Amino acid sequence: MAPLPQTLGELRASKFRSRPVKQEIRDNLVRKLQAGERLFPGIIGYDETVIPQLVNAVLSRHNFILLGLRGQAKSRILRGLVDLLDPQIPIVPGCEIHDDPRKPLCGACRARVAKEGDAMPIAWLPRESRYVEKLATPDVTIADMVGDIDPIKAAEAGLNLSDELTMHYGLLPRANRGIFAVNELPDLAGKIQVGLFNILQEGDVQIKGYPIRLQLDVMLVFTANPEDYTARGKIITPLKDRIGSEIRTHYPTTRQHAMAITTQEAWTERASGLEVEIPGYVREVVEEIAFQARADRKVDKRSGVSQRLPITTLELVISNAERRALVNSEAVVVPRVTDVYAALPSITGKFELEYEGELRGAENIAKDLIRSAVGSVFTGMFDGADTRTVVEWFDLGGTLQLSDTTPAADVIAQTCALQGLSDLAARAGAIPGAPAPIVASAIDFVLEGLHAQKKISRSDERGYAAAADSAPRRPTRREEQLMDEELQIPKGAKKKYYN
Ligand SMILES: [Zn+2]
Repeated sequence: MAPLPQTLGELRASKFRSRPVKQEIRDNLVRKLQAGERLFPGIIGYDETVIPQLVNAVLSRHNFILLGLRGQAKSRILRGLVDLLDPQIPIVPGCEIHDDPRKPLCGACRARVAKEGDAMPIAWLPRESRYVEKLATPDVTIADMVGDIDPIKAAEAGLNLSDELTMHYGLLPRANRGIFAVNELPDLAGKIQVGLFNILQEGDVQIKGYPIRLQLDVMLVFTANPEDYTARGKIITPLKDRIGSEIRTHYPTTRQHAMAITTQEAWTERASGLEVEIPGYVREVVEEIAFQARADRKVDKRSGVSQRLPITTLELVISNAERRALVNSEAVVVPRVTDVYAALPSITGKFELEYEGELRGAENIAKDLIRSAVGSVFTGMFDGADTRTVVEWFDLGGTLQLSDTTPAADVIAQTCALQGLSDLAARAGAIPGAPAPIVASAIDFVLEGLHAQKKISRSDERGYAAAADSAPRRPTRREEQLMDEELQIPKGAKKKYYN
């Protein structure tokens, strides 16, 4: 590749031509489409829905808005637009609005070009510096967004439309020749929306009563909660008219997509020297919590349940398992389904509750969601499996006392008398010869699954016992036989967990 021009003269002699930013983004997208490149890498589950609409908006050179609930990768998509910019563009060095050396906007740069001519050095701005992002809040001012002027200086200079020497630039002018992203657009005061619109439409804006001319070249992109955006009066109509495309985002539609996102985002590779092995059913349960929450009428649909819920939950689940492995000197970190309960701190803050949910309390709602999630995953995996012998052991008075710090070997020892349990554990992936932490995790999953199906009971202190409605009753003939065989109740079983 030829070295980049370093002076205005070299730039003029080169083939380089600046294009309006939306044209530049379009050109690069066209090239990527022709080359069959993957667009928006890292965005999962939008291939058939959001991405085609996004591509069309860019091909149309639209300003656009992403409408979606929290945790739907809206900001990530917008940041991904940076990949569609040229690697670098020429600018007048030091210019705050990144003026094009060939046709500068600001008075200072125009004066410089006139004075220095072809000898003027130029600089190159990398694309990462051409993306400006702002979270809209009601207290954002015109000064923040567009800029401010010193009224005394302005009066002294006898300011007119084209004199911007006295201006302190805000975020939008600093995004000139780049992308300006405003998150949560409806939170922006109407006055600021008018300012944005004026600058888009007319290329000028009034600041403290002084008209300022700014012919900016910016791609404007926005995000909003769909209900806020469509609510009457939240967005001024002329601005809405200037937004070429409205694109709806969504939560993952399948558990597989959701798991792929969480796998990509969660911090799972710990450097504690221990091997981390996350059973598939633990991942599924973590994911299913979000699905359950999004469908739960006690959880506020309007604010949504972010994909960050399963991501942070998985991280805490692994940490709880890591803690257990460290204190018990186990070499492999294998999360258990019960570790999910230790992740409540990452769940309760990730949703808003409806009135009915408030009454029940966030922590109880979270526990209900976990239990439903375990039930859903367990039922899917153990459909048609024979769990009777395990349930009968509890019905006959067997109890277990486990905690989330119980070493794997203890879990296995405590449950070795439960007929059929190891077959069920094998079905969950604990094949014969598997390391103890894997077997213990599978056993834990079976117990939690039976608890979720209400076949056995479990106290908050994790004592497992017969289901509340299964005793007292007359023993079946099979149970009488078993009793004749003097079934051993495990040692250390705590009677207080009997039902
Ligand atoms: Zn300039």
